[in-house]
Amino acid sequence: MSLVERLEKYCLTPAMAGFEDEMIKKLKADLTDLVDEIRVDVLGNVIATIKGTEPEGSDLMIFAHTDSLGMIVKGIEENGFIRIERVGGVPERILAASNVVLQAPGGKIVNGVIGFVSHHLTPPEDKYKVKPIGDCYVDIGATSAKEVEDAGIRVGTPVLYRPSFERLVNNRVTATSLDDRGGCAVLVELAQHFKKNRPKVTLHLVGTVQEEFNLRGAMVAAQQISPTAAISIDLVAASDTPDIKNGNGVVLGSGPVVGTYTFHGRGTLNGLIPHPRLLALVEESAKSKGVHLQRHATMGLLTDASYVQLVGGGIACVDVSWPTRYTHSGVEMCSLGDLEELKNLLVGVVEKFPTEENFSRG
Ligand SMILES: [Zn+2]
Repeated sequence: MSLVERLEKYCLTPAMAGFEDEMIKKLKADLTDLVDEIRVDVLGNVIATIKGTEPEGSDLMIFAHTDSLGMIVKGIEENGFIRIERVGGVPERILAASNVVLQAPGGKIVNGVIGFVSHHLTPPEDKYKVKPIGDCYVDIGATSAKEVEDAGIRVGTPVLYRPSFERLVNNRVTATSLDDRGGCAVLVELAQHFKKNRPKVTLHLVGTVQEEFNLRGAMVAAQQISPTAAISIDLVAASDTPDIKNGNGVVLGSGPVVGTYTFHGRGTLNGLIPHPRLLALVEESAKSKGVHLQRHATMGLLTDASYVQLVGGGIACVDVSWPTRYTHSGVEMCSLGDLEELKNLLVGVVEKFPTEENFSRG
């Protein structure tokens, strides 16, 4: 299966934070024949290990999250309209008139839309207003609470953007959940490569959970593995569209990106300044593999690497990414070429990763 085929399969798989099981099954099935050991922990982290040729060598963890953001049912009204709450960073300004699916127990999918005041009935003063999530509702066509419940929907049912995947010109795609199914697809590409070319270091390829919810599922995997270093694969917002001034300079189609600084101060307080040795290793790999590497420093962005770095006595971490437009919407866009180059970059990092180094500072 090619990278784009696997990416499509993953993007079309509904797996909201806390409900990752469909992705866990697929990722585990795709990795099992490529690795020496694989297990899934209680939270749902998929931990696949390729043993290095040097038994006393280092352990390197490379991870991507399997979950996506979404919404959750918080109430069902007598007339059949469904009230929702956000799970993760869902932008309210894109919700009106969007297609959604509700995932009933057993994985049964129920279609719905997020309603809004019909255009013909909208007063002029409301034309440019955004409704907060508390005023949004899902309409599945039901006329009573009983019909909603008969469809298998209850308080706590996950609600997701209707999964989609479309190919565009220039080897680009637009899809739901490129965040972080692009990273999951790259994990499998790495497993395919290192099955044929066993690395010197022991490589742990991990599909993590709940990144979009509390960012801390990956900590549990890191606690079990206790790696020397850990590399997060997740997207970075590109700022090359006409509506962004003073962005982070990241351009779609210009190659993978290494994070030099992330920070998020709204609702959470964390970020990542990468370990200097690991950052240097990423840059050395780009040079030797002939990969055009972009750098970013972005306020308002955060990945689970920010928490992995704090595990145990500290873990050297770095974020590597591919540029994506329209993040956290149902039409995220990326370049397949950037994902291919990201894989090549990571192959180089694993090959160059020192078998004996404690990443000490000072
Ligand atoms: Zn993500």
